[in-house]
Amino acid sequence: MDAPDIATYGSSLFAETAILPPPRAPLTLDADVDVCVIGGGLAGLTTAREVARRGWSVIVLEANRIAWNASGRNTGFVLPGFGQSPDVIVERVGLDHARALWALSKAGLDYVRLTMQEHDIQPDVSDGWLAVSKTDRPEAIQSEADLLRNLGSDVDLLPTEQIRELLKTPHYFQAIGFPEAFNIHPLNYALALARLAEEAGARICEGTPAMSIDPAGIRKRVTTPHARVRAAHIVLAGNVHLGNIMPEIARTVLPVRTYVVATKAIEKEKLSEAIAWRGSVSDTDWADNHYRVVADRLVWSGRMTTWDANPWRYAKGLRRDIRRVFPQLGDVEIDYAWSGTLGNAVHRMPQVGELIGGVWLASGFGGHGLNTTAMAGNMIARAIVDGDTAWRLFLPFELIWAGGALGRTVAQVSYWTYRTKERLAASAARKAERDRASGKAMRRAQTASKPAAGDLRQRVRDMREKQAARRKPSLGKPGKNGRPPNGSPDAP
Ligand SMILES: Cc1cc2nc3c(=O)[nH]c(=O)nc-3n(C[C@H](O)[C@H](O)[C@H](O)COP(=O)(O)OP(=O)(O)OC[C@H]3O[C@@H](n4cnc5c(N)ncnc54)[C@H](O)[C@@H]3O)c2cc1C
Repeated sequence: MDAPDIATYGSSLFAETAILPPPRAPLTLDADVDVCVIGGGLAGLTTAREVARRGWSVIVLEANRIAWNASGRNTGFVLPGFGQSPDVIVERVGLDHARALWALSKAGLDYVRLTMQEHDIQPDVSDGWLAVSKTDRPEAIQSEADLLRNLGSDVDLLPTEQIRELLKTPHYFQAIGFPEAFNIHPLNYALALARLAEEAGARICEGTPAMSIDPAGIRKRVTTPHARVRAAHIVLAGNVHLGNIMPEIARTVLPVRTYVVATKAIEKEKLSEAIAWRGSVSDTDWADNHYRVVADRLVWSGRMTTWDANPWRYAKGLRRDIRRVFPQLGDVEIDYAWSGTLGNAVHRMPQVGELIGGVWLASGFGGHGLNTTAMAGNMIARAIVDGDTAWRLFLPFELIWAGGALGRTVAQVSYWTYRTKERLAASAARKAERDRASGKAMRRAQTASKPAAGDLRQRVRDMREKQAARRKPSLGKPGKNGRPPNGSPDAP
């Protein structure tokens, strides 16, 4: 990819190593289609591909380039589930409903895997994800794993010793392993998805912002700078970039920037000595940290801001995070630093469904968008073409105002608070472990200086004999009244 293209895609490692097609032409003539998709990220591209595969006409309007933001800049972990934690989902909708949602999230994951396999998109996919605990809480991890199994995920429970074999750091305790998860080159996947959508008959226009929509009537209208689109259905898949065309919808997602670095190549032995696991790792529910080894580099993400910032500003902090967790890697150098913007709904669940007749929303996938965009794209395409109603399972997660500027401040402060609490809890857990270890060592030392149990019994016998010998009465010297003195062995 040449330099201006790389900059469009955030100057990331993935942009550097992607195979980018030439830009697609913007829309210059009016178009009349069954479905108009606004937004060429993963959600919009999957919807377009699945609509086209069902024989309907579909156009994708992308303001910039396909997958230029979150969809092409993410870290590529394809996981089951959602941004919201499973216990909260169960609490909100009940176990059976949560199971049905979980199955949809897994179908999204399967869709990505199948698409990649069928089209030979990236043969060197790495498998597995570890969700690692920075505090020592075996019971809590066990019950999380039980719940995940109950929801339908085949997870492994890894004790501290096993985790420390895979990730050589005292910072980690137990973990849940997700063997069904896998890791991809996100930009290559998104670009391939666009190609597959076109092969199925979809039309994609880059550099074509949808500026306004008229959702009334059977044929809806979308205005772009040079032409108009008429469509029976509109799918809003613009994530946090949707802006003014439906401000009340845009206000329901909170834009969150997260930061990623890719190190320079690290010596192979050194890297695999520190990180023997080749899947991905998350050691938090929030931003700090998610990482995986990509070829001979470490791709490491963390930090979040609700404002735009130069990613190199956060690269130093991420480098410090790497050093803190894996000091044996030394002072790693950073080759790439980039950021991307994800969209979080207040309930941290995707917003999927029909807003008004013929206007659909696919948004709010948060940091869990690879499987859920696939899920949503499939669900919406099936709903439009086949009248499928699976999307109704998301009705409990309705549109809630994300709080505007105040919401962004609250999110930022919550992140800082969470991060501080997490760090304190993690360092308390490590201290407790050190104390336990030094307590054990002290007890061992004391035990070593003490005689063994057998010796002890012998010493007690010796002592008793000595005492008995001291107490023996001196012969021929009766006490008063001619009786033996008190304490003598024959006293009553
Ligand atoms: C740094 C980072 C790491 C992440 N890591 C992971 C991960 O490992 N695993 C995971 O599952 N998820 C991850 N995510 C989340 C995931 O990338 C997103 O949830 C997902 O890509 C969102 O896709 P999308 O299609 O909804 O939005 P986007 O990718 O943001 O696409 C929306 C598109 O719509 C276009 N658009 C908006 N408005 C208009 C308009 N009016 N007219 C025309 N076009 C418009 C935009 O230009 C944009 O291209 C990560 C996100 C980030 C930022």
